[in-house]
Amino acid sequence: MSDEVFDLAVIGGGPGGYVAAIRAAQLGMKVACIEKRATLGGTCLNIGCIPSKALLNSSELYAEARDGLNAHGIKIPTVELDLGAMQDQKSKVVKELTQGIEFLFRKNKVTSIKGMARLEGSGRIAVELSAGGGQQVSARNILIATGSESASVPGLEIDEERIVSSTGALELEGVPGHLVVVGAGYIGLELGTVWRRLGAKVTVVEWLDRITPGMDLEVSRQFQRLLSRQGLGFKLAAKVTEVDDGGDRLLVTTEAVDGGEPEKMKADVLLVAVGRRPYTDGLGLEQVGLKTDNHGRIEVDRHYATSVEGIYAIGDVIRGPMLAHKAEDEGVCVAEILAGQSPHLDYDAIPAVIYTAPEVASVGKTEEQLKEAGTAYKAGKFPFSANSRARATGKTDGFVKVLADARTDRLLGVHIIGAEAGTMIAEAALAIEFGASSEDLARSCHAHPTLEEAIKEAALATHGAPIHI
Ligand SMILES: Cc1cc2nc3c(=O)[nH]c(=O)nc-3n(C[C@H](O)[C@H](O)[C@H](O)COP(=O)(O)OP(=O)(O)OC[C@H]3O[C@@H](n4cnc5c(N)ncnc54)[C@H](O)[C@@H]3O)c2cc1C
Repeated sequence: MSDEVFDLAVIGGGPGGYVAAIRAAQLGMKVACIEKRATLGGTCLNIGCIPSKALLNSSELYAEARDGLNAHGIKIPTVELDLGAMQDQKSKVVKELTQGIEFLFRKNKVTSIKGMARLEGSGRIAVELSAGGGQQVSARNILIATGSESASVPGLEIDEERIVSSTGALELEGVPGHLVVVGAGYIGLELGTVWRRLGAKVTVVEWLDRITPGMDLEVSRQFQRLLSRQGLGFKLAAKVTEVDDGGDRLLVTTEAVDGGEPEKMKADVLLVAVGRRPYTDGLGLEQVGLKTDNHGRIEVDRHYATSVEGIYAIGDVIRGPMLAHKAEDEGVCVAEILAGQSPHLDYDAIPAVIYTAPEVASVGKTEEQLKEAGTAYKAGKFPFSANSRARATGKTDGFVKVLADARTDRLLGVHIIGAEAGTMIAEAALAIEFGASSEDLARSCHAHPTLEEAIKEAALATHGAPIHI
């Protein structure tokens, strides 16, 4: 056992963990980060945000070249798909970005330890090194950032070939004839869209009677209409009751949630995308007396401290939205708290984006949440069909919706469905973070012609005064 004592040992090198490690090192702490995967970056860089966005981008380019360029006077006689090359491009991006974190660790003098960490007691971690053997790590503070894994459905055994999680769905070597997606959350819809664009028939089976639970309902309904137009099929208020994998193709049985006749369909691949669950396997929580709540999350106070002194937790393994930027910002907060600073993260100003085409992005409260809380609000909406840039580029689907407090005009929520929504939402997140009113948004000068003018117009609409509609 070495005598070296770290100020902070981070368990998990995902966006929460690696960002916390770098920020703590910037603040002068001696930091170690322990990661069991061969590469840094966690779910996000290896099997999540980055590979999915690479495939979404490539498949969108393919679909545009195949179907979308004629209207612009561009004729491409034959468009061919080279799926192997598309997958290689995705892997190249993942490799470059994960290596980039190794570089940042070296630059900031973060000690990177590859292996499986197990808590042994306050300030003590036993690491089973990936290269073989073991190492004891001592630290004044420990940060658990072990993330999450795909949730499973009883009776559906994931083999990552025919019955896949998102990880297998990112690695398919051929375009499935029929892909059945279980779960209409953002991961299922993004990956369903990828394979639909590449030629698969896609059917999404969802337990609830709507897609994207938690999203503003009006946006969600429009989103489903647009996805249906792209050829995605939906079976809502339905469940998969059986999958027979004995034949050449899977035989999937579904049933309406409230009963009824079972229906059968043949599929080549079944993607189970019913959400993610916090990951604490083998971490030794019980060894240090840490408990999880009934969702498997580690409980923390508002300073991310667990019930055991000197042990903190952030990211997907604690409460809150399972998003990379939320994990990152919490990582920064913990590092700064340990350095004696007073950081603050506004959970009402965390944006969420679905990277389909069109994109869907939101920040703050939905209309349903405001109704449920009894908050008096006013809503303003502006369609992209009335925005000049959207018309110039032919991307007129969708709208911006602004929700503001009826009495104070303070911005409460912004919801966008449309091209570039994920980029545009940053303006709304900043406005909410700064406590802006919808009038502030409406009076800020927006460049013309830009899609962002639709945000200004929706804000004007909350005052009943949009100009271009
Ligand atoms: C397909 C897909 C697409 C997604 N797209 C987006 C997106 O577009 N935008 C977005 O914001 N979020 C997205 N997410 C979610 C995002 O990936 C997670 O919210 C984010 O990675 C959480 O970060 P984290 O640091 O908490 O955990 P993780 O990224 O899960 O990292 C945890 C790390 O800890 C390691 N670990 C676990 N236990 C131990 C142990 N005992 N010892 C050592 N190491 C350990 C794991 O190997 C892992 O690398 C996506 C997820 C998926 C699956």
